[in-house]
Amino acid sequence: MNDCIFCKIAVKEAPAEIIFETDRIISFLDINPINYGHTLIIPKEHYKEFHQIPDDVSQELIIVISKVSKAILESLKPHGYNIFTNNGRFAGQAIMHCHFHIVPRFMNDGFKFRPHPKSYKQNEMQLYGNLIREKIKN
Ligand code: 5GP
Ligand code: ZN
Repeated sequence: MNDCIFCKIAVKEAPAEIIFETDRIISFLDINPINYGHTLIIPKEHYKEFHQIPDDVSQELIIVISKVSKAILESLKPHGYNIFTNNGRFAGQAIMHCHFHIVPRFMNDGFKFRPHPKSYKQNEMQLYGNLIREKIKN
């Protein structure tokens, strides 16, 4: 067994407040929440970043994210919610086992993603669009 805390949670070798699980996915409360009820969803198998997860597993992952989101909405009645995943150290990933966050949000809770600092200059948007479109795979 590696040293990954989320792998340990997945096989119940480390404690967690588990919300829901399937054979391949597990969801549990974040130990240090942005708001109470902040929940994490992970594949039980260790993948560092989102793009490394096989399609069939990420399909199941998004279904569990949807199911848990609905439960958070019904139980905690937040005013909104964020779903996000940080991939790589420079994107703020601290635990190197891919996970999605669901964060219930409340009016004036003080948590901020904005403002976004950049804007495109003339033609730059098309340039970036071209760069990404060229690498889209079927
Ligand atoms: P990241 O910054 O990697 O996207 O987020 C990692 C998240 O995992 C953080 O929100 C942090 O509070 C949470 N976390 C770190 N260690 C543990 C742990 O041992 N148990 C649980 N439940 N959450 C953890
Ligand atoms: Zn892991």
